[in-house]
Amino acid sequence: MHYQLTAEIIKLSVSDYWDSAKLEWNFEYAYQSETQETCLCGHYPIRNICVIRNLENKNQTEVGNCCINKFLGIDKGNKIFESINKLKDDISKSMNAEVLEYLNDKKVITQFEYDFYTDTLRKRVLSQKQLDMREKINRKLLSFTSYESNSVFSRINLVLKWAENNKWFDAKFVESLKQNCERNGKLTEKQTLALENIISKLKIV
Ligand SMILES: [Zn+2]
Repeated sequence: MHYQLTAEIIKLSVSDYWDSAKLEWNFEYAYQSETQETCLCGHYPIRNICVIRNLENKNQTEVGNCCINKFLGIDKGNKIFESINKLKDDISKSMNAEVLEYLNDKKVITQFEYDFYTDTLRKRVLSQKQLDMREKINRKLLSFTSYESNSVFSRINLVLKWAENNKWFDAKFVESLKQNCERNGKLTEKQTLALENIISKLKIV
């Protein structure tokens, strides 16, 4: 399993050597799949999945959270999955502070939401209004880390990666779709259609 994973990662890296190839990769997103999937190492089934991105050639791939810990030394997914599971169990609880930072970095939440959540993170007793706000922000995490929004991101990233080699293409619209999806966890029907039109018209695979 270990060999298969390192071989797959090296194939997608610039370097041919594991020790340097693994340093090319950065954590990008985490999501929890509704269906059981297979890890790059061959392990089945996995549900906690991290999307990692190669800083040199912009390749992207998905790896099970356990493998990313063990072999790539990236542990950013752990806290995210802990919080997802906790909130799926009880939406009135708080997510971890690091996960809140992650949502903020990805611009999933507004400055106001970030400040509110930080101020009330450790509070057990909230007013109904505050509780509603906390739950609303919690739902943003769940939708951002859902399979549905991740499949949109992978379509968007496909176009953005292609655009890097096709400089004539103005990627501003697709960039704005990405920001939209980060904010809302999904695209509207119209936006999805526009994205799929671009992919088929330009024959991006
Ligand atoms: Zn694995």
